[in-house]
Amino acid sequence: MAEQPLLQVRDLKTYFTVREGVVRAVDGVSFDVQAGQTVGIVGESGCGKSITMRSILNIIRKPGAIVSGSIRYRPQKVKLKTDAEGYADLARLKSTGRDMRSVRGSEIALIPQEPMVSFSALHSVGNQMIEMIRLHQQVDHATARAIAIEKLRQVGVPAPERRIDMFSWELSGGLRQRAMIALSLSCDPSLLIADEPTTALDVTTQAQILNLMRRLQSELGMAVIMITHDLGVVAQVSDYVVVMYLGRVVEQGPVEQIFADPKHPYTQALLRSIPSMHSVTRSELPSIRGSIPIPFNRPPGCPFHNRCDAYMPGVCNVHAPELTPVPGTDQAVSCFLYDEVEVRA
Ligand code: SF4
Repeated sequence: MAEQPLLQVRDLKTYFTVREGVVRAVDGVSFDVQAGQTVGIVGESGCGKSITMRSILNIIRKPGAIVSGSIRYRPQKVKLKTDAEGYADLARLKSTGRDMRSVRGSEIALIPQEPMVSFSALHSVGNQMIEMIRLHQQVDHATARAIAIEKLRQVGVPAPERRIDMFSWELSGGLRQRAMIALSLSCDPSLLIADEPTTALDVTTQAQILNLMRRLQSELGMAVIMITHDLGVVAQVSDYVVVMYLGRVVEQGPVEQIFADPKHPYTQALLRSIPSMHSVTRSELPSIRGSIPIPFNRPPGCPFHNRCDAYMPGVCNVHAPELTPVPGTDQAVSCFLYDEVEVRA
């Protein structure tokens, strides 16, 4: 029997109600994360990947709210009220309540995009790590400091005994991101969410950080959700890929299958837009025509139909395709090219 996933997101909807209308930032997203697996969530800016991440951490601020769906998580350390299968629904927990606060950091940790704004400039890196460790573990200050030094060493910070007392603004970009990863790992989470962790770094440091994350993931056996717009990052670190467009999952599947044989026209277009060493010099790079619609003005039917080369008038602009398994593969895709039954219905 297949192992139960660590995280099961089902039909998640997170909306923002503002004066101009309702923004359906996440609109019926479903995916699983197995223990020890790296899942890459990919899509253009505004596709809802970061709001999905914030929903899982239950840190959606007003005027946003999780309006329906579930975020079922199997707690590994923290004692939570669970169902018969051992899952707690994080979407039902109070964002500022004790249960959700104990899940954040201890069970599920975040590596943010820009550590400079996430670290406090007023406290040393060490003090922030020690505070985090003592919040979730019953240890004294000296023990917490020893754990923090060990975590810094684990992520490759040189001379951690000295650097632990430095402020984040005294560290280089690469060291600061390593320190942020150490902070995220300080309570041994079972699920690490990395929100574009290499976007603010130069390419050499990016490669080092991705190698570090791959090493840590295999050494510590934790699950990782990698949020990124960069398909190169997904290819390097992910086992499984979830492609999002306008708040919906348009395709998901194992990384090898998605890269070898993408099914959804949007995934195909994304892959075509990656610059290649073999491109004809000075030729125009392929891009996806048009742009993401304004959130208040979502097109009816398939959200991608006004940019899609395979658009079928009378079908794609009328009906909304559901995420459906593609026979003979482990992929699922939300497109009428693979869902004739739904079209007939
Ligand atoms: Fe294109 Fe239609 Fe498939 Fe949408 S449902 S991706 S418009 S072919």
